Amino acid sequence: MDESLRRWATATPDRVALIDAASGIRLTYAELDRWADSIASALVEHGIEPGDRVALLLGRKPAAIAAIWGVLRAGATLVPLDPDEPAQNLRSRCDRAAIEACICGSETAKTAEAVAPSGTDRLQIESIPRKSSRTRQFDERTHETGPQRLDRTRVVLFTSGTTGQPTGVRLTARNLGASAASTVARLGVMAADRWLLDLPIYHAGGLSIPIRTAMLGATTVLRRGFDAEATATTMAAYEVTGVSLVPTMLRRLLDGPGVPETLKFVLVGGAETPPSLVKQAIEADVPIFVSYGMTETASGIATATPAELREDPETVGRPVRAASVSILGPDGASLDPGQVGEIAVSGAIVSPGTLSSERRRPRRAFRTGDRGRLSPAGWLTVTGRIDDLIVTGGENVSPRSVEAAIRETLPVKAVAVLGIPDAEWGERVAAAVVFEAEATAIETEAVRETLRGRVPEYALPKRVLALDSLPRTASGTVDRTALEEQFEEYDDSQE
Ligand code: ATP
Ligand code: MG
Repeated sequence: MDESLRRWATATPDRVALIDAASGIRLTYAELDRWADSIASALVEHGIEPGDRVALLLGRKPAAIAAIWGVLRAGATLVPLDPDEPAQNLRSRCDRAAIEACICGSETAKTAEAVAPSGTDRLQIESIPRKSSRTRQFDERTHETGPQRLDRTRVVLFTSGTTGQPTGVRLTARNLGASAASTVARLGVMAADRWLLDLPIYHAGGLSIPIRTAMLGATTVLRRGFDAEATATTMAAYEVTGVSLVPTMLRRLLDGPGVPETLKFVLVGGAETPPSLVKQAIEADVPIFVSYGMTETASGIATATPAELREDPETVGRPVRAASVSILGPDGASLDPGQVGEIAVSGAIVSPGTLSSERRRPRRAFRTGDRGRLSPAGWLTVTGRIDDLIVTGGENVSPRSVEAAIRETLPVKAVAVLGIPDAEWGERVAAAVVFEAEATAIETEAVRETLRGRVPEYALPKRVLALDSLPRTASGTVDRTALEEQFEEYDDSQE
């Protein structure tokens, strides 16, 4: 996995590895390779040993990509963090990951000072030369040889924290390499492609882009801060051929400037992708691929192609090459096609475990905590998270089914249905909606009236809150904890 940069730097040194849209900087494979060597040697000078954990506190800029390779090349474990996360959370992640050093930039030096435990080395990226005559070439340093090398933890990524505290997930070279190889195969990515990276690099969806492009000798185009107009302009200006987006980004592009015709793939994932959005993309002739994945599997588990989505806009397609999927019933036994149960994944993409475990290989199929079904042809459909199931007055309500009914009958841009703790019912069904501009005054009773007959009586929302936007995590999932707080605040204000 980490040899790919060196391989292309040797074979095609002048090919462009990275273009930064903000500065116009282009780095060839040879230049990126030298920069990685320089960062690796700075880490080694600071006493970093193979397996030590190094936090990355950098915004999305070329130095961050060089630092990813530098840390890997020094044999250390990369822990990318969100520099904009509140200091308290960052401190806790640095502690939990037991970091030995932290790479920051001039704009994040203060944050690094505040969050890195005392005694950790802080390296400011601007103080490391991009190339230095003293720099020696590094081959990845490791104490291990043979296939065991593949099972070393190379990256620690924190989950999005949709359901609670983010978990620190360990990913090995086997996981990252298998994920990259199977995704580029499914998408048909080639060396001539230019992949736009406009997602956080501290989550799997973003971090995987430089890894995938380096595997093929392709080009990463870097942007910081999604903005529909500006992102579309960048894609056109740099003749981008592929892009990874979370669903809300795609919606904004399609409602706004659209996407350029140079695109061969638009990979959407990280959160539920509504079928209406898939249909909108297909109608606009956008080459949409929908991916279902998670941190624990180094990103994509299954990815649907445009042809599959034309046939079934709800599917996330077949599992990728390095994954096999089964659907488990409550007793853990495999269910038949068509039956809904817990999605379980096995294969080379599955992480060996979290920060608190030391296993090198997963012991059994990984239970995702998501619900779904497989078609007889092996296409997967995700129907929600197990934890999201609302139990109200003893009845089970799938938030997805109520969300779908609302989307079909009301002029909404976005909707999230959730269970709010309730003394009488255990939980009561609540809906947060972002109405289209002309419909902001629709009341709870009107929503219930519209839905009556489409969903069972007990599943009708008892409270509908109209919002300007839904709170979301960086990977685009609805932040249900934040949403629940908004409902509580609203209820408090009504008393
Ligand atoms: P946490 O594990 O901390 O609660 P999280 O599960 O949101 O947060 P991630 O690993 O970033 O953290 O997200 C993976 C989850 O996102 C999946 O388990 C699934 O619930 C959801 N997801 C991702 N892609 C899709 C998709 N295409 N359709 C539906 N859900 C998706
Ligand atoms: Mg999760």
